[in-house]
Amino acid sequence: MNCKNHPAVLATDRCAGCAESFCGDCLVSIQGRRYCGSCKVMALNGQPVVAREATIPCKEANEALTYAIIGIFCFGIILEPIALVKASKAKKMIAMNPQLAGSGKATAAVIIATVALLLWIIGILVRVTQAA
Ligand SMILES: [Zn+2]
Ligand SMILES: [Zn+2]
Repeated sequence: MNCKNHPAVLATDRCAGCAESFCGDCLVSIQGRRYCGSCKVMALNGQPVVAREATIPCKEANEALTYAIIGIFCFGIILEPIALVKASKAKKMIAMNPQLAGSGKATAAVIIATVALLLWIIGILVRVTQAA
């Protein structure tokens, strides 16, 4: 199989966009995939050839998870509500900017914070009822 652009040159690979055969000079590598000249333009213009990956870690989601985990052990009655606020803020930020990563962390923070907060409330109620 020869290159579609250079009939005298042997093709080295296929374009990830149009699946035609091209030589090494014609193919360019974008995010680990190889494209020909015309498909490269589409890939760079954000056509759905390559899904844009979430690459920027969301600081708010990391903080939410940290607060949620620390809150299990101490000051949960204060830290868990903060974790919940930060997690919902993180989810909003991620929804607006698809390049932000960390929706999994935000979800984990919500689950941990909710459970831990309930345990803290139950613990306080038990202490209060026992004292009464
Ligand atoms: Zn192509
Ligand atoms: Zn070529």
